[in-house]
Amino acid sequence: MNDIFAFDASETMLVIGLGRSGLASLEVLHGRGVRLYATDEKAPGELLDAIAAAESFGARFIPSAEVATLLGELTSAVLSPGVPPTSPVVRLLHEANVPVLGEIEVAYRLCKAPMIAVTGTKGKSTTTALIGHLLRGCGLEVRVGGNIGSPLIKEVLGAGPDAWVVAEVSSFQLETIRAFKPRVAVLLNLMPDHLDRYYSMDEYAEAKYRICANQSLTDWFVGNLEDPRIASLHWRHGETRVQARQLWFTLNPNDQATMYLRNGVLIFAPIVGDPRPVPVVPREEIPLAGEHNVRNAMAALLAALAIGCEPEQLREAIRSFRPMPHRLETVAEIGGVLYVDDSKSTNPASTIAALHAYDRPIVLIAGGRAKGSPFDEMGEAIRERVKALVAIGEAGSEIVRLSEGVHAVEASAIDEAVSRARELAETGDVVLLSPGCASFDMFASAEERGEQFAAAVEALRAPAGA
Ligand code: ADP
Repeated sequence: MNDIFAFDASETMLVIGLGRSGLASLEVLHGRGVRLYATDEKAPGELLDAIAAAESFGARFIPSAEVATLLGELTSAVLSPGVPPTSPVVRLLHEANVPVLGEIEVAYRLCKAPMIAVTGTKGKSTTTALIGHLLRGCGLEVRVGGNIGSPLIKEVLGAGPDAWVVAEVSSFQLETIRAFKPRVAVLLNLMPDHLDRYYSMDEYAEAKYRICANQSLTDWFVGNLEDPRIASLHWRHGETRVQARQLWFTLNPNDQATMYLRNGVLIFAPIVGDPRPVPVVPREEIPLAGEHNVRNAMAALLAALAIGCEPEQLREAIRSFRPMPHRLETVAEIGGVLYVDDSKSTNPASTIAALHAYDRPIVLIAGGRAKGSPFDEMGEAIRERVKALVAIGEAGSEIVRLSEGVHAVEASAIDEAVSRARELAETGDVVLLSPGCASFDMFASAEERGEQFAAAVEALRAPAGA
């Protein structure tokens, strides 16, 4: 199979998926003179704007059922991050020996700057944004892209050899890599998620491990030592699958760790040069709630340290980071009650993490569309830490059932959920929207769910009868 892609007028390519990233791929490839087709599994009637945009980049739209007619012409195809590599169009292309490249693979091949790539089940966006923030704070030129912010393929175009590109990458994208070789690969955690799309945790983990598959000794791998599936990659486990130099983080001091927490301070234990441990930043100076965010911060700090940032600069830089929207974001304090939007919690593990982030009594709003992960442990955490539960969405009654003993009510809309939560909360409590589920049963996206929550909270301020 030809593995040299010119991405120029000698190629005819199909872009699969007409979302933001697919359109960005078309724009970039059009700029390089590639002959383009575009496809999407949605009906053309639902895609009028996207098709018009695709045509403005010289692409012809082909409904997915008709892609077979192109097979003789195509030199390769680009898969947008949201499209599963198992989709029928991809299978058809594979059978016809048409190489299918993920958007990150194409971006990587066009990129002149070294790349830091972040993956994991949860914490990707936060960690990616934090790395960008830290590197900027250290005076470096940085571009941040991938699932977060703007499509990677556009970001890399603006990055010269002296800049850094920080990329958030999904497991779907990792399945389609070939040459992708980040200078620093960060693997945050592997939790049950997307089990509706993978057969097993092992299969899901294999997809994530690919982030370091092409790395060599001159690269760096940053991993979570507390996650058994990731820790099994540690060099002490005999035949390691990681060729890069390894940096490991954990909250517990440990002789295998390169960063850990001691007496409330994040400590760096260098693996090259002077081995004396260096205090980097006290935990209380990191402006993010929850232990899981200490781990995310450790991962980001290690990535920055790996490429030569100085601990003092990093301590300064991390203090001015702000939580990203919809991730344990405080949206209001009304009548002594804190209202927190954690709408991006789309699996039980992130809700469990959120429940451990607060010392105050919690009124939890949870539920939505289940993604195949069991709710048992989330039910346990609710029973342990939640004062009252307001359940929403398709999975609402299941969550209520598993939270036996906790005062629970169900609500059918977000504003109803917010007013029920307000009735149940007292001064000093936190009303926490952390659904543990996807949003698509009631909302277009997790962002929309968070925005509607914030609007409903804001409406509580209005005087009665106004
Ligand atoms: P991702 O981009 O991987 O979805 P985000 O940074 O957007 O991750 O966070 C999504 C949700 O996951 C938020 O609710 C956040 O509080 C939670 N979260 C972030 N990091 C972790 C972690 N390490 N463990 C558990 N939950 C996490």
